[in-house]
Amino acid sequence: MVYKKIFLKPGKEESLKRFHPWVFSGAIARIEGECEEGEIVDIYSSKKEFIACGHFQVGSIAVRVLTFNQEVIDNSFWKRRLEVAYDLRKALGVAENPINNTYRLVHGEGDNLPGLVIDIYGKTAVMQAHSVGMHENRMDIVEALSEVMDGIVENIYYKSETTLPFKAELGQENGFIKGGSSENVAMEYGLKFHVDWLKGQKTGFFVDQRENRHLLEHFAKGRSVLNMFCYTGGFSFYAMRGGAKLVHSVDSSAKAIDLTNQNVELNFPGDPRHKAFAEDAFKYLDQMGDQYDLIILDPPAFAKHKDALRNALRGYTKLNAKAFEKIKPGGILFTFSCSQVVSKENFRNAIFTAAAQSGRSVKILHQLTQPGDHPVNIYHPEGEYLKGLVLYVE
Ligand code: SAH
Repeated sequence: MVYKKIFLKPGKEESLKRFHPWVFSGAIARIEGECEEGEIVDIYSSKKEFIACGHFQVGSIAVRVLTFNQEVIDNSFWKRRLEVAYDLRKALGVAENPINNTYRLVHGEGDNLPGLVIDIYGKTAVMQAHSVGMHENRMDIVEALSEVMDGIVENIYYKSETTLPFKAELGQENGFIKGGSSENVAMEYGLKFHVDWLKGQKTGFFVDQRENRHLLEHFAKGRSVLNMFCYTGGFSFYAMRGGAKLVHSVDSSAKAIDLTNQNVELNFPGDPRHKAFAEDAFKYLDQMGDQYDLIILDPPAFAKHKDALRNALRGYTKLNAKAFEKIKPGGILFTFSCSQVVSKENFRNAIFTAAAQSGRSVKILHQLTQPGDHPVNIYHPEGEYLKGLVLYVE
């Protein structure tokens, strides 16, 4: 197989030689022939030495690198990548675990597969393409995934309607490429969840908070818990299992609250400790009393682009200030940001400002991040996005 060649401007191969997996459009000197969006291309330096091979796309990131070796991207390539990814999840103890069948199998650049996300929910894999190239290769990936996960994954749901550049006009639709089971209950560390991969956010569930939810369980005993931005209730069930006195789950989406109530029934049928409210976070925080001594704040990304950074930081400060103002003495606050453009330092500063406004004594107990099944490729620090702090408020 011979791929079309892209030649870089002099010196523009430096970041690739340090294994950074993107080629920006400004680094390209010339393209041999006409390249179709999503096509696999070979990248050469200005001195005509082979550098990498990846998916071509129209836009500021022109190539997403699949390999730094001169090789063919075929079934054996996809299988090798998926096998490495699966072995990593087994090493982490999240795959092939009798009490856990929910994990991220492929996390884009973190698994050397830029533009691809695959989450596993029991027998169903939900696959998401974020690049045109991964969309073009979806059938090859499905074939390789079926082979690597033979006996484990029976259904593959493709969910790329909203994650692909709409300008590419690929006519993509969400739907099963393989199988089609309506069984949608998955298990995370022994707790059960309905996963709404047909209509839910992301691939249907926020897999990335698993370890942080697990940590929360150990803080819950005897506490009154507020799970703000609860989505389908993730943190709430861990709090209940951990022995919380009461758990209130809040989200502005009525659909999310519906699912939260269904999930409570799955795990703790008829348990009077739990209540869920479809309400705006700021309104709820303004109107609530001071009954909570364990509060979770896990808002959606306040900044999706660098330009929105300043407003986003103000948003985090405002939100957290309300929690500091009302949390009971001796309370614990789990607070998060999933905005990639907000750095760890930015986030900590925003929380520092909020704490100072309240005048309370605040201690950092844990500094949290994304779990190992959302790995950060050391050559691609941009892959780090989830930040969290566990705080003790005197
Ligand atoms: N903690 C969740 C994930 C949270 S995702 C988990 O562990 O699964 C963010 C959630 O915030 C979404 O469900 C979204 O509906 C909700 N949301 C967004 N804006 C909101 C607002 N102003 N008030 C309350 N909830 C909001």
